[in-house]
Amino acid sequence: MNDFIPYGRQSISDEDLAAVADVLRSNWLTTGPAVSNFESKVKNYCKAQHAVACSSATAALHLACLALGLGPGDLLWTVPNTFVASANCARYCGADVDFVDIDPDTLNLSVDELRQKLEQADRLPSVVVPVHFGGSSCDMAAIKALADQYGFKIIEDASHAIGGQYKNSAVGNCQYSDMAVFSFHPVKIITTGEGGVVTTNDSALAERLQLFRSHGVTRDSALMDKEAEGDWYYQQVDLGFNYRITDMQCALGLSQFSRLDQFVERRNNIVQRYHELLADLPLEVQQVSGDVLSAYHLYVIQLDTGIDRKAVFDHLRTHQIGVNVHYIPVHTQPYYQNLGFKIGDFPNAEAYYAGAISLPVYADLTDEQQTHVVEKLKEAIGL
Ligand SMILES: *Cc1c(COP(=O)(O)O)cnc(C)c1O
Repeated sequence: MNDFIPYGRQSISDEDLAAVADVLRSNWLTTGPAVSNFESKVKNYCKAQHAVACSSATAALHLACLALGLGPGDLLWTVPNTFVASANCARYCGADVDFVDIDPDTLNLSVDELRQKLEQADRLPSVVVPVHFGGSSCDMAAIKALADQYGFKIIEDASHAIGGQYKNSAVGNCQYSDMAVFSFHPVKIITTGEGGVVTTNDSALAERLQLFRSHGVTRDSALMDKEAEGDWYYQQVDLGFNYRITDMQCALGLSQFSRLDQFVERRNNIVQRYHELLADLPLEVQQVSGDVLSAYHLYVIQLDTGIDRKAVFDHLRTHQIGVNVHYIPVHTQPYYQNLGFKIGDFPNAEAYYAGAISLPVYADLTDEQQTHVVEKLKEAIGL
């Protein structure tokens, strides 16, 4: 049992390999049929009206902010318990960032904290980015009710959550949000190598996402300020980026989709078994609300105070178990400290972080490997 066990990794089948090879033999390597087929797959799966695929979830978050017209003078709120990309998207647009603390049980955005912060705010956010931590949906109905009351837009950072459900519907259907973003990085639930997608039910937003994905350039005469000069003609009508995704990536994503539900089921089985095996240990696990099916991108434990997290982490790493920590609270990063945030600003996220360890969870993790992880964890804690 000397093989390294990472905290997450892709599962690649022969069908995946064949799908990518087929594209390489075709006429289109980028912006071809695999991209639109992949987008159709995502929107049909999520039951959203539109899906716009792009080069990463980071790009997708940036595109979503651009589509909403976020800019200097605007404010975006997200949680500290996330990857830096959830906040950086506002900074790319010249907007300001603030954070809402998490709920210590669900580890997701605390609706009570959000409500209080809105009540007391002298500056309201134009956008709130709830993050479905670990693949478990936030309380979107409650967040949407506050959005209606206070007039902010919602971009779900669903990077962890493809295949997950909220109130018996797929995460990403945007029933309670303006847009949702998924990541297809290899550690996530399904992969395109690198890649992301935005789903939305708003056709005007979808049009803007497409425009900003490719330089702000259009061939659609309806978007131009004069008639086309010929078939070659295009216009740049705004400042966009090259955030396109390739056909090879989308062919991989399409092929991976056929196993998505299987992956999520396997991840849930692994988590159930962890819960049983770890039941008597001095630690807390993420609480998942009854109306949520988590995609379980992450399985996080929070060691009780008094247990040396670093020692436990180092012991597991020494034994080739690739544990990780999700997340270092974003407001404690030097870049955000330079913007004025301080240690102590978001105590729930900081307290969770102090004891957090992410244990391995991915579709191809075997029961034997999982047993080994649990044995080494018990050994590390001194049990
Ligand atoms: C992975 C991740 C991202 C960024 O995804 P990329 O596809 O790697 O750009 C953004 N937000 C969260 C919460 C993530 O976990």
